[in-house]
Amino acid sequence: MSPELSDQIFTPVQFLRGVGTLRAEHLNRIGIKRAYDLLFNFPRDYLDLTQRCEVDQLESGKLQTVVGVIESWQTQSTRRGQMLSLFVDCGKGFVKALWFKMQFIMREFAIGRRVMLTGKPKFDHPFWVMMHPEIIYLSDKEDDITTEPFLPIYPLTEGIKQHHLRTIMRNMLPDYAPLLEEVFPQDFLVEHKLLPIADAVKAIHFPTDRTAIACAKRRFVYQELFVLQLGLAVRRLQHRVRLKATPLTSDNKLDVRIRRRFSFELTKSQETAIKEITQDMSQAVPMNRLLQGDVGSGKTVVAVYAMLVAVANGHQAVFMAPTEILARQHLRTLSRILEGSQVKIVPLLGGQRPAERAMILQEIASGAANIVVGTQAIVVGEILFQKLGLVVIDEQHKFGVMQRAALKSSEKFDPHYLVMTATPIPRSVAMTVFGDLDVSVMKELPPGRQKVVTYVSGVEDRAKWWDFVARKIREEHWQGYVVVPLVEESENFDASSLNKVYEQLSKGELAGFNIGILHGRMSTEEKERVMFDFRTGEIQVLVATTVIEVGVDVPNANLMTIESAERFGLSQLHQLRGRIGRGKRPGYCTVFANITTDESQKRLKAFASSSDGFKLAEEDLKIRGAGDLFGTQQSGIPPFKIADLVRDKEIVIEARNDAIEMVTKDPGLANSEHATLRRRMLKKYGTVLNLGDVG
Ligand code: ADP
Ligand code: MG
Repeated sequence: MSPELSDQIFTPVQFLRGVGTLRAEHLNRIGIKRAYDLLFNFPRDYLDLTQRCEVDQLESGKLQTVVGVIESWQTQSTRRGQMLSLFVDCGKGFVKALWFKMQFIMREFAIGRRVMLTGKPKFDHPFWVMMHPEIIYLSDKEDDITTEPFLPIYPLTEGIKQHHLRTIMRNMLPDYAPLLEEVFPQDFLVEHKLLPIADAVKAIHFPTDRTAIACAKRRFVYQELFVLQLGLAVRRLQHRVRLKATPLTSDNKLDVRIRRRFSFELTKSQETAIKEITQDMSQAVPMNRLLQGDVGSGKTVVAVYAMLVAVANGHQAVFMAPTEILARQHLRTLSRILEGSQVKIVPLLGGQRPAERAMILQEIASGAANIVVGTQAIVVGEILFQKLGLVVIDEQHKFGVMQRAALKSSEKFDPHYLVMTATPIPRSVAMTVFGDLDVSVMKELPPGRQKVVTYVSGVEDRAKWWDFVARKIREEHWQGYVVVPLVEESENFDASSLNKVYEQLSKGELAGFNIGILHGRMSTEEKERVMFDFRTGEIQVLVATTVIEVGVDVPNANLMTIESAERFGLSQLHQLRGRIGRGKRPGYCTVFANITTDESQKRLKAFASSSDGFKLAEEDLKIRGAGDLFGTQQSGIPPFKIADLVRDKEIVIEARNDAIEMVTKDPGLANSEHATLRRRMLKKYGTVLNLGDVG
């Protein structure tokens, strides 16, 4: 493309035919400054002129549209106020439109002006009459359905009317659309059934039919997703080439030794995940894998397996959890599994005395410690490992996945990474926000897992529910959680809502039972004591904030009450519910909600009707949108302009496969046919994805 052409497409809008200084100002106000911006100011909808009726086809009382020219109009005083009647000549007959107290619309009337009326007509001899129809002004030629069956409806700004903008677009499209730079090679367009850019832009403004709209949209969505996937594919490739890890291998003998430590058979899902992980770890490039497994699918065991492989290879492993409660639970699990073995596990937690901490750091630096368990916050920092082989990050769904934890090791190679999450990430999102990770999915739960029955309840059901809870605790020694949302779990922690619920229950419905309290602001010792008492059954009911949301595993706790459930997101509710039904008996979960919006109603209904985390995550995406859930911002990826990870999930997969194929064939994107794509990709994602110098 020559520089003159590229300049031309950036012509300021005021120099375009039909724009002028004043309209240019209005357009500038909504960010449309140049010809290029106009081309990409896509219609938000279309007027479908093919749906219009001729007068002799009208049916009484049905919403219909007619097109014609203004014949005359008049106003008249009536008891209902000023009545305005408009006569429109529709060719095969007249339609009369009536409005009350709407004289102001007269200002737009002119004899001979083309209009479109949409309303429910009644026949009132000798005319069809529409009361308060919607009126749209068309330019002279705008009712020709053979050339323009659909008219674009643009997002507008004050001072510019639809028909102005349509005229501007009609004038500029034939000249400017062909100047757009095509990013895809010609063969690629044909092979992937994509409209060339100029055709797509023309079709999106003035489509010939619905298929044309869909094809044009698909092209732009595909392009946006493809460019990102191209960046992700290049990043994966770069990691493969640049980062070096020590291969950590396993064999049959080691496999038998590790399995002997587990008290149960592994599930098929666990077997598959382990196979994928050990395969990755045996490579000289660092593993970069996301283990995505629904709540309770048994991810910890998989992590333990991987860590023992690292240890058997003379390397250290670190296991990081998002909360201290979870880190301590992992410590206990590991100590139990590895009891009597040579493996030395050390904790890195809050509240450790300086001397104790210094000793642990020394053990980590000398290599005496094989496995380090701690919270993300504490482990990441000035800790020096002797020979770090594997990093496991548990429940990583609250922070961006693009950044790796900064861990130091005397080892000059990079460690392998295993990231685990119970937040079931829909495939389309995993491939985008998590696009540079390999993914293992565990859908299966260990055998014997119990159902959780879920109720969405109102105030009227309270007595019955608490009665049920009290009976189960008294007669069958069950335990339960009561989860209370905090208005703000931040600096100014306010435990009052928690305390209130505690007071009420201990004086009222659950009087006589041992009730505990747990929240994030308690000291480490307090938290640990409460969790200990709960695990041993001393505490029968735990009133807690969402600190118990992730990972906590107390199989005897089978009852869950969630207060003000409307404040929780769907995935969060699913996480919470995952705390129960872990033992031999079914779980019961009741959410009390103050339902005020359709959205919360939908959410809670979805929650009660499914226990499949993957399904719920899809549902959550539909209700809330991807940005909100997985914060593309958090991940560092700029938001999409056109693509939507829910609506366009098939295109995500297609674009990803195609991008991988392109990068496999042309790793540096050095082929001149790929130059434009390469430039676009680097401009948008080079920094975010840390791509450096490609090729
Ligand atoms: P999550 O994937 O939610 O982290 P956990 O690793 O906490 O799940 O496992 C949940 C429970 O299931 C634990 O009590 C664990 O011991 C148990 N478990 C894990 N794998 C199996 C298995 N294959 N068979 C039976 N129980 C298992
Ligand atoms: Mg877990």
